Amino acid sequence: MNNPGNDEKSTAIHFTPAGAEKMMARLILRSVDEGECRVWIGGRANNGYGVTGGGLTGKRVRLYTHRAAFAAANGGYLPSGVVVRHTCDNRPCVKPDHLVSGTTADNNTDTLERWTSPVAWGSWTGQRGTAHRSSKLNEDKVREIRRRYANGETQTELAREFGISTPNAWYVVNRKTWAHVE
Ligand SMILES: [Zn+2]
Repeated sequence: MNNPGNDEKSTAIHFTPAGAEKMMARLILRSVDEGECRVWIGGRANNGYGVTGGGLTGKRVRLYTHRAAFAAANGGYLPSGVVVRHTCDNRPCVKPDHLVSGTTADNNTDTLERWTSPVAWGSWTGQRGTAHRSSKLNEDKVREIRRRYANGETQTELAREFGISTPNAWYVVNRKTWAHVE
């Protein structure tokens, strides 16, 4: 598979909240735990990084999975010219906790300040959901979803009512996300 873009910092990413959620769901479903890492099991570029298709404002583009993961977990936005590195040195890893960013100059903290936001990937990243600005759920809603699911309502019905995707409802009721909520 060819590399998407000429270098790993070439593609700017801007997901809508729904797009970020979709990407997040895809990355979780198509990856497996491997030690501390979460490793992409889909396509890989020649250089070893994971690759996935990503719909960006109607354009079909291919994205590196670590860049898509970082953007999806950080407000949906990753400007071009910003590199995303693995702290684990495991190129197909898509765990947001293992991804750090820097500008090419690496000391432009103003730029980083502006777009870095808390992670909303879910509890498997060790992060918590309400920190995310586009989070549609809160702890009360999560409790209500779980209670009503236990009482026989379907994940699809609950997803529709709470304005979240069905995979997202699955994560909630199976405690893959919001695991910190009792
Ligand atoms: Zn890793």
